[in-house]
Amino acid sequence: MLNNIRIILVHPFHPGNIGSSLRAMKTMGLTSLTLVSPQCFPDKAVYTMAAGAADLVDNIQVVSTLAQAIANCSLVAGTSARQRSMEWPLLTAAECGQQVISAASKGEVAVVFGREKTGLTNEELQLCNYHVMIPANPGYSVLNVAQAVQIIAYEIWQAYQVVDEKACINNQPEYPDQASMAQFYQALEKTLTDINFIIPQHPGALMAKMRRMFNRTRPELAELNILRGILSRIQQNASGKND
Ligand code: SAH
Repeated sequence: MLNNIRIILVHPFHPGNIGSSLRAMKTMGLTSLTLVSPQCFPDKAVYTMAAGAADLVDNIQVVSTLAQAIANCSLVAGTSARQRSMEWPLLTAAECGQQVISAASKGEVAVVFGREKTGLTNEELQLCNYHVMIPANPGYSVLNVAQAVQIIAYEIWQAYQVVDEKACINNQPEYPDQASMAQFYQALEKTLTDINFIIPQHPGALMAKMRRMFNRTRPELAELNILRGILSRIQQNASGKND
């Protein structure tokens, strides 16, 4: 289960934070770190701060976009201390641990952390199923990124200690990965545009709201296939090719 869980750091600035994140992960049984266009990697400071987790440096994957990093994940949790104008389905750190562990019994899962200075953009958070907030002092709730990784990794480890792995595997339906969801959103947007529901000059926040709704309901793979079928039938009818 733990092998199916990856930690993602988006555009980390300080190499020391990469090393500290590895150390935080290894103490909680996690081994897979992905960096999205890091500022300074590779760097000696990564090894210094990783200490006994320096063996994990060789496992690090580097990619250029968050979409690439999560393409094969069936569940993605994005962490942020900030409330957003468009609120996303919210989890505490402990709830995140439980969701991640149950999803990891059946597929790849990611927890995403933002830039040291500016965190995750709204667009990046909207690629995630959930927004995870570590409950903290409302007067100053922003943790260092590696310390945030430590807390989330701890909660994952706690949830792992009490999970019944077999029951979890049997009870989990199959969920689509994020690449399939991205294709679905493209098809949905195209269909809504073709039937003039979305006016290209004034798209508004409709697609973000649609993403939020589908993230909240989290369609199973079989349900997504029905939705795709509905879209393609609408497309056929809209272009006058219905049979
Ligand atoms: N100034 C940035 C803070 C970035 S802190 C901002 O306004 O978003 C770096 C990263 O640590 C965040 O992007 C998030 O991934 C994580 N983090 C820090 N504090 C957190 C908290 N209380 N809850 C969830 N994630 C947190």
